[in-house]
Amino acid sequence: MAQYKIYNRILGPIATNCYMIHREDSREVVVIDPADRGLELQEELSARNLQVCGILLTHGHFDHMAACQALQDATGAKIYAYVGEEALCKDPELNLSLDFIGKNITVTPDVYLEDGEEITLGGITFRTLFTPGHTSGSCCFYVEDAGLVFSGDTLFCESIGRTDFPTSSMGQMQESLKKLMELPESCTVYPGHGEATDIGHEKKYNPFVS
Ligand SMILES: [Zn+2]
Repeated sequence: MAQYKIYNRILGPIATNCYMIHREDSREVVVIDPADRGLELQEELSARNLQVCGILLTHGHFDHMAACQALQDATGAKIYAYVGEEALCKDPELNLSLDFIGKNITVTPDVYLEDGEEITLGGITFRTLFTPGHTSGSCCFYVEDAGLVFSGDTLFCESIGRTDFPTSSMGQMQESLKKLMELPESCTVYPGHGEATDIGHEKKYNPFVS
């Protein structure tokens, strides 16, 4: 079984987790939610002799994608997002950049993913799990053979993402949480904010998971 290395940087005004994952036998790294400081991220990865081969977005909020463009310019890596998130990515009002920091930040994904679609980057296979609720095009990325999921702002340790933003829906969020609870209890959850957790812990202690 392949071994994986995961790094986390907490970036931007809302302390967003930016994850970087690569196989131990590969120098190609995938960046999930490059929240801020794209050039710094690139320099840090270069110093580790790692090359960015893809950028995955769990959703289009500015605090998860503000460094996408800089990172893409520096590396040429493609940006992937769920197909239903296009409007948010391209609209500074919907993606909250105008409201929160008074800037027009947008991102243009190169590839739009479907629910259940698998992509392999740097030898790592990510399954796209469509999990609307926090936004209408939010998704999670499940790496089955590593037993981990990048949950964005859908599932947090003992909490969930807000559902009072443009395109949010509490009803959809509840369905998405049910979907995530079908993953193995041992599956590690890497959320968009806060500490990592696992599905078993969330089944027991998350008040939003019935
Ligand atoms: Zn968000």
